[in-house]
Amino acid sequence: MCFLYCLIVEEMSLFVKVLFCVGLFSLWLIFLNLLCPENPFPRGEAPREISVWYHIGMKKFYKSTDQIENVRENCRSIRCPKCGKVEVLRRHGYRTGYINNKRVIRCWRLYCDPRGGGCGHTPSLRLCGVLRGRSFSGKVLGLFIEALVMGYSMQSAWDYCKCASSLRTGYRTYHWLRHNESNIRNALYEFIDVRDMNTDASSFIALLELFKKAFKDYNISAFQLKTQKNFGFP
Ligand SMILES: [Zn+2]
Repeated sequence: MCFLYCLIVEEMSLFVKVLFCVGLFSLWLIFLNLLCPENPFPRGEAPREISVWYHIGMKKFYKSTDQIENVRENCRSIRCPKCGKVEVLRRHGYRTGYINNKRVIRCWRLYCDPRGGGCGHTPSLRLCGVLRGRSFSGKVLGLFIEALVMGYSMQSAWDYCKCASSLRTGYRTYHWLRHNESNIRNALYEFIDVRDMNTDASSFIALLELFKKAFKDYNISAFQLKTQKNFGFP
């Protein structure tokens, strides 16, 4: 074999020798390619791999400001929740307000820019403990609900949660909860065995107990984070 190889190589001109080496090298490359089929970027498929990155959906509630900042940094890679387009969202400031008597950022906003083909919608990103239209946090509401379940009077329950607002807000919150009872019930269906669910309209306290069972210690933040819905709203 070796003799045959030497005979062939010695008989060849320089040009044929070069061609022969190139051929051998090509064969070696093909052999390597067969050995490594898990090549992360096979020819022609790289754009499809990268395009997956653009399919990130936007959430309404986030656990931390770091997560929200990260989303805002990479907002161009996020799909608009209204029109579904990508590469059209851009940062759009934030809205401040009072929660538990402190001035805080209530929500951060993005803007679906019509100049880039967007719809003009301004979706907002919020921390999971922020309640829609309320001047107290989810933690305070959780404590209020806990006191109601323990059988406290309205005055005592409102004192128990140490909310900075007046007792009138306490009464309003109670009636708001009663009014949106069915929305809370519907949201809990996902997390509770239906047989545990008491469908009796008067069992408001039983519903709140079920809420505790599903989210532990009347955790409104966990509810909003998991369901991605405003507490008490459809
Ligand atoms: Zn849009």
